[in-house]
Amino acid sequence: MSRVRCVVFNAALGVLDYRVPAGMDVEPGSVVVAPLGPRQIMGVVWDEGRLPGADFPESKLRPLLAVMPVPPLAAPLRRLIEWCADYYMAPLSSVARMALSSGAALRGGGTLTEYRLTGAEPARLTPQRKAAIEKLEGQQGTIRELAAIASVSDAVLRGMAGAGLLEAVQVDSDRPFPHADPDFATPTLSDDQQAAADQFVDAVRAEAFAPFLLDGVTGSGKTEAYCEAIAECLRKGRQVLVLLPEIALTETFLARFEARFGAPPVTWHSSLKSSERRRAWRAVAGGTAQVVIGARSALFLPFAKLGLIVVDEAHEISFKQDDGVRYNARDVAVMRARFEGVPVILASATPALESLQMAENGTYTRVVMADRFGGATMPEVSILNLTEHPPERGRWLAPPLVEALKDRLAKGEQSLLFLNRRGYAPLTLCRHCGYRFKCANCSAWLVEHRLSRRLACHHCGHEQPTPDKCPECGQPDCLVACGPGVERIADEVAEILPQARVAIVTSDTLTSPAKAAEFVAMAQGGAIDVIVGTQLVTKGYHFPELTLVGVVDADMGLEGGDLRAAERTYQQVAQVAGRAGRASKPGEVLIQTRHPTAAVIAALASGDRDAFYAAETEARRSAGAPPFGRWAAIIVSSEDEAEARTAAREIGATAPRLPDLAVLGPAPAPLSLLRGRYRYRLLVNARRSSEVQRVIREWLEPLRFPQGVRVGVDIDPYSFV
Ligand code: ADP
Ligand code: ZN
Repeated sequence: MSRVRCVVFNAALGVLDYRVPAGMDVEPGSVVVAPLGPRQIMGVVWDEGRLPGADFPESKLRPLLAVMPVPPLAAPLRRLIEWCADYYMAPLSSVARMALSSGAALRGGGTLTEYRLTGAEPARLTPQRKAAIEKLEGQQGTIRELAAIASVSDAVLRGMAGAGLLEAVQVDSDRPFPHADPDFATPTLSDDQQAAADQFVDAVRAEAFAPFLLDGVTGSGKTEAYCEAIAECLRKGRQVLVLLPEIALTETFLARFEARFGAPPVTWHSSLKSSERRRAWRAVAGGTAQVVIGARSALFLPFAKLGLIVVDEAHEISFKQDDGVRYNARDVAVMRARFEGVPVILASATPALESLQMAENGTYTRVVMADRFGGATMPEVSILNLTEHPPERGRWLAPPLVEALKDRLAKGEQSLLFLNRRGYAPLTLCRHCGYRFKCANCSAWLVEHRLSRRLACHHCGHEQPTPDKCPECGQPDCLVACGPGVERIADEVAEILPQARVAIVTSDTLTSPAKAAEFVAMAQGGAIDVIVGTQLVTKGYHFPELTLVGVVDADMGLEGGDLRAAERTYQQVAQVAGRAGRASKPGEVLIQTRHPTAAVIAALASGDRDAFYAAETEARRSAGAPPFGRWAAIIVSSEDEAEARTAAREIGATAPRLPDLAVLGPAPAPLSLLRGRYRYRLLVNARRSSEVQRVIREWLEPLRFPQGVRVGVDIDPYSFV
């Protein structure tokens, strides 16, 4: 090749042509450094003829500067990147960049210097060094990583190294990961598990695209079933990718994986240190990382010989990325499996309607596990009508739920209260003048976090200390908390059951995989009586002594403008209910509601999942909603409210008039101000068959807006805020 077309890492430039200097070896997928004006830019050599671009005369092309010492991105990954860019209407370079997510890895292997405590204990220590030593116990990392862990400057640590408190260790940045053994501890499977495992193993052996929906009730032992497919991949020397919706869940998974295969898998998520990212990325690209478990971003890792993808808790909406490239990892996982020619297993107890529909029409093979493993029974679910059983004034738990909590504590069993709202109270106001605390950057109330004594915006992250007096009228001691968050429920439990050991489980408390592991160990060790948590506790956990689940407000999810609200409520409540009675002791679930006759609540009470899904399917069909129609959201924003409004109106006014396309809006977004930007939304509803992306592209392309206006497109949107 004397000239190549490259995807360069600059969304505005997109693709550029370069000359390949004599003696340089490149092929499609090669990661290269290219000149750009006086600077250098990273890029990926693309396949000839696949990307449009201007045909510069060869004499004008500048030569590539270097090829990075990493394997070229393989063809299936290049096809996936093209598909994502096209389907999600994102710049090719933004998608390609996700595949090269460790800058350090691209520069090659080698050794690096890490530091750890020497254990020396000098008689006199500055308070700063003393505090640093406490935080660095058991840690090893580069100076920069340790500085972040200990919250001190690099200089402090260098000083400590000079004083003999820290020692340097040379580590091979490509040192291999421990070897997983497919036959380390093979479980005895139930008949259901064996039947599922057999199908998966056959598919792994066939080395062809095969999508499965593993539809098994909570506690049916789905993990053990798909682990047999993982074992088969290990035997064949192929790699496996397991996607989990939350990093908080990885610790539980790691422990189970290690028990089964004798070594932990390789992890991939945003809280990895940069040296860990580098090592993992290189092991994936080199084919030595056998099994990777990770968050959605792991989907774009450059696997050398992928053999299987598993998406666990596949219904979870955290697989949907809402900023940057807006993609749904569940759907991208299926596409990757297709391009790689490997099986993919979507596992869930409450599959998304979209997935069920794919099983229904034969695209996915449905594998059902209808019973809990080991003879455990499904929990008894009852409705607690709050109109009939009102909680005491200023409280949120109805008397029957309070009695049930007391009963479990007396028996030494665990309870779990679910409320999907972090903090203490969602709204704080002044009793004296009526002032309400609102975010300065967003159209949202500030949520009181009493544990950290702060008011926080859950949309932009803005935080301020909770004041003692009203900022408006200056009256002291006049602030009232309105409505409950998990912290307030935990306070209520502490009043009702003063002896109970209560744990709050939210993204505020489980801030790292280590914290999550600590929580799991405490819960399993019987050191917690009552868990109060958000959606973070609804999934994955298995606590044998947990026999009571209370859903504090089942109506909450139904109130937003979300078109999938009923499905989401069903999934969340069914998942949290699924935490109860997973072992020998039967479980009980109490659902607090003001709408006991709402279809979703009734279905939860009767345990009639099929009836709920059937009704929901019909509702979607008649509304032309997914999976029977397509949605796309167009979000227009600007720091200038009038500018955003004008741009949104122009988009609305130029909407194509097509028989199978409806455009709703523009309307101010429910969150009409976010991070200082005013927002308008349009919702496009198209028939399944229509090419919604092409229509939107042709519609928006000719429009010109002022510089400050941003127009984003969200294909298959989940959030409507
Ligand atoms: P699910 O993911 O379907 O909700 P899990 O995979 O968490 O269910 O399994 C529930 C519990 O049963 C777990 O504690 C798991 O270790 C145990 N279990 C499942 N299958 C087996 C088996 N074949 N042998 C021993 N224990 C099993
Ligand atoms: Zn805000």
